[in-house]
Amino acid sequence: MSVALSPSRLVVRVLRTALRVVGAGGHAATAAARERGVGRVHPLWVERASVCQTCPLCVVKCGKSYCGKPFLHQIEREEHTEGCGCPVIPKAKDPSEHCPRNAHFEASTKNEHCDCIWCTRVAKAESSV
Ligand code: SF4
Ligand SMILES: [Zn+2]
Repeated sequence: MSVALSPSRLVVRVLRTALRVVGAGGHAATAAARERGVGRVHPLWVERASVCQTCPLCVVKCGKSYCGKPFLHQIEREEHTEGCGCPVIPKAKDPSEHCPRNAHFEASTKNEHCDCIWCTRVAKAESSV
């Protein structure tokens, strides 16, 4: 049995769907640009990507590692507890990217003194050399 939606609920539903599609398109375009190697590469991307291999949020799909479920499999998410959905290697290579979580699975600060898993672990590894 289907229940008719009021016009205002229908408008809200259509807007929500449109926002999801636009968000998915932007995210997919960024990931595609990264895949093509557009832009600079982070000098410690191998270390960043290897941190992901030990992360409980890392998901392997079709032989490829992702930060959480691939984005198009779950558009709405809490990035710090579910991952951002990007493929790990292009994300790790992108110097503008940070891991979405800190050691307590809270949203990372992604700033100059970033507390994300990448910035804290890679910085620790560098200082112990
Ligand atoms: S980017 Fe962070 S949250 Fe995502 S898989 Fe890597 S370590 Fe885990
Ligand atoms: Zn960081």
